[in-house]
Amino acid sequence: MPYQAERLPREKVFRDPVHNYIYIQHRLILDLINTKEFQRLRRIKQLGTASLVFHGAEHTRFTHSLGVYEITRRICDNFQRNYPTQKPGDGLWDDHERLVALCAALLHDIGHGPYSHTFEHIFQTDHEAITVAILTSPTTEVNQVLRSVSPEFPEQVASVIKKTYPNPQVVQMISSQIDADRMDYLLRDAYHTGTKYGTFDLTRILRVMRPYKDGICFEISGMHAVEDYIVSRFQMYQQIYFHPVSRSMEVILSHLLRRAKKDYEKASNKNEAAAPYLLFPFFNHEFNLDDYLLLDDGTLTTYFAHWRQSTDPILADLAHRFLDRKPLKSVKFDDQTQAKIPELRRLIEKAGFNTTYYTDTNNSYDLPYDAYDPKMKKPMTQIELMQSDGQLIELSTVSALVSAITGKFSGDQRFFFPKEMLTPKQGNVELFDPVYKAFQAHLHNDYII
Ligand code: ZN
Repeated sequence: MPYQAERLPREKVFRDPVHNYIYIQHRLILDLINTKEFQRLRRIKQLGTASLVFHGAEHTRFTHSLGVYEITRRICDNFQRNYPTQKPGDGLWDDHERLVALCAALLHDIGHGPYSHTFEHIFQTDHEAITVAILTSPTTEVNQVLRSVSPEFPEQVASVIKKTYPNPQVVQMISSQIDADRMDYLLRDAYHTGTKYGTFDLTRILRVMRPYKDGICFEISGMHAVEDYIVSRFQMYQQIYFHPVSRSMEVILSHLLRRAKKDYEKASNKNEAAAPYLLFPFFNHEFNLDDYLLLDDGTLTTYFAHWRQSTDPILADLAHRFLDRKPLKSVKFDDQTQAKIPELRRLIEKAGFNTTYYTDTNNSYDLPYDAYDPKMKKPMTQIELMQSDGQLIELSTVSALVSAITGKFSGDQRFFFPKEMLTPKQGNVELFDPVYKAFQAHLHNDYII
């Protein structure tokens, strides 16, 4: 069902460091931005612990969501100017789809919580399911605004997020190998981290993007701009998203939350003055949407500040390490050196650390990494170029550069341990305890970060 909505008498603009202006033309979009669920995104950092490595990366889910909206709006404008549908089923763009696309773009991350990746892991929450719940639950302001279009409209927007919306052009705008979401976060994260790898020619990519019957493809004349985007994405994952120190801070965060949950389960009096009431529903695995929407970076940080003074020395120390940025050290391991880990753990235990909370292993393959690999036979994993005769060809078959990095990613597995194992000190006195020496004898210094 096509939808139209009231246009603002004069478009409104938001200043943005990446896109310069973000243009709001529909009252509906402005009303969605003004809901409490959307405003909450101002209080959730886009990159979580990466801001502890790249200090400029304080940007929020709010600003990213506006950016995804703006890129989607520009795609719709380009499609409407250059590829407007003439008759149903001709594979061109029907501008009645604009509103559902803009709403899905704006709201695609509305279910994210603070430090999403870590939080989801510990408390088994799922930001995508929560996004759908926020759109479709009658109790939210977002749902009330969406319903002003029509009773089915919230479900329609949710189906774009769930990738079940019938028009693949709309789904691929928000979720595909080159979509508005990825293009915005790469440019925005590059800008705010101060790294230059993530930049690519957005204007050119939008210019060569076009609709066709099964979705979205790119004019072959724009191949180099698309190539550059893929290489930028590859670099950003290697340099920013998989940074070992950021991963180390995530390890501390997850152990801190796990320890708090354990203390809660053991506590006889759960109603102490500084009790983390807002987390109780998550400790109990019985949370509802209202409980979830009360959380943000600020609420969690406040609890961390309280926990720093906890009578539980492990909780207090982990809170200190997180708030004062004291990352664990880490060392790379592979299938052969993996066998050393139990011995390393034994020595760490001997030095007085609880290894459940002061060691961990993780690999960057676990992170939500999206390599460009056209051989994965899932829909929407290919980037198609349209040749002059109208035939489609997959990008890596014509680009030697993309072919070289396709499906190849040098991720790593790391073992995390307390820094004290490398420089054991008591006051100003260096310890030459055999435990520390034995520990260090196992490590290859080149791989320690
Ligand atoms: Zn996003």
